[in-house]
Amino acid sequence: MVKGARREHLFVETDGQIYLVRQGRVWRFPRASEKLPFRAAESGRMDFGDDLVRRMKPSLTYHPEEWFNRDDLFSRSDVDGLVKKAVYMTMPRLVAEAALARGHDVLMVRAKRGFSRGYWNLPGGFLDFGEPPEVAVEREVEEEIGADITLDGLLGVYHSGFPGKPTYTMGFVYRGHTDATTFRLKPDEIEAAEWFPVHRGLLLTRNPFVRWGLVDLFKGFETPPFDVVRHGLLTRDREARSGPVVFLDRDGVINRGRAGYVRTPDQFEFLDGAPEAIARLNRGGYRVAIVSNQDAVGWKLIPKRQLSRIHDKMVSGLDAAGARVEEIYVCPHHVLADCPCRKPRPGLLLAAARDLDVNPREAWMAGDKPSDIEAGRAFGARTVFVGDAKRRKRFSRDLQDLRPDATATDLRAAASAILGRG
Ligand SMILES: [Mg+2]
Repeated sequence: MVKGARREHLFVETDGQIYLVRQGRVWRFPRASEKLPFRAAESGRMDFGDDLVRRMKPSLTYHPEEWFNRDDLFSRSDVDGLVKKAVYMTMPRLVAEAALARGHDVLMVRAKRGFSRGYWNLPGGFLDFGEPPEVAVEREVEEEIGADITLDGLLGVYHSGFPGKPTYTMGFVYRGHTDATTFRLKPDEIEAAEWFPVHRGLLLTRNPFVRWGLVDLFKGFETPPFDVVRHGLLTRDREARSGPVVFLDRDGVINRGRAGYVRTPDQFEFLDGAPEAIARLNRGGYRVAIVSNQDAVGWKLIPKRQLSRIHDKMVSGLDAAGARVEEIYVCPHHVLADCPCRKPRPGLLLAAARDLDVNPREAWMAGDKPSDIEAGRAFGARTVFVGDAKRRKRFSRDLQDLRPDATATDLRAAASAILGRG
């Protein structure tokens, strides 16, 4: 082995049974260089610095009783430490959080310490061992904000990796309310509590459970908190479809952007292969929604009816290529407007989430600006930055900060990335 190279281990597990090999007096994971007596496919990777643990699913025709039961490993002294560490890491951490709603606003707290320090979160925290989540959430929230709360139901149970760590967390997010108007904050943990509209809260957090919970809260509001401009495809007589959603930015992704805006149907020009890429996403089971900032409408450079004609032309071009778009969502406000919908604000995606019942955990956002990536991230979706080498270089600092899930030269490559990742 080359000095400094990482050791690769195979963590083979089925039905809670783990395959280990013996070396002297110690049971350990087989190394990647050792041949397994059965077939196995990789299902994930865990990074332990010098040690890389590859998780493997074996193909077996029986339940291997002679392997090690995962629960029995910890009390044994003849099992390698890395095995115990890796098995322990795969046990999910459990957290419970509450989205306390007041009208269309939600109470968020800013953390003083830990992973979320300086960021806003929903109040809540880790479950104590053996504690049911609906008990934990009341205990944690009341500790953090010093007020009684009432739970109104479960918004969702979510699952996520922790950035940079080989651990997984399950989050139970509840909807609830409180009659309290002032809060007594837990001094060592919380430095502020404030009510925010959902579209703002989404940009203030870095916690995926908070994002997903807020999107689910928003979808459940009886009336929409704000209105957005739609082209009107949804209201036409089309059969309702289901499936994950890809949000696409328009200019620079579907059509060529123009320095002075695309102001007339004649100036609308598809980028090579873009309609076909949308058709390919459709065939792969994806619904597509377009989310576009058109501040030229706010500047009165494009009358709304003209924008509608541009979009009619786009839709017929897409139809001709067998590509379907569920709806075109537009922010018509100018750059300085304090609207909820101008990307990076996630208002257009939130409106679409209500219309199309979008699950952010299955959704993607593709765009050619950092603000597209921010909007997709805020919504809790995966993101693709679309741009050629020159454009990627121009935005290299933003891309380093934002770390989109993929980068692609054009929409064709973005569609391949999305279809390849599922
Ligand atoms: Mg664009």
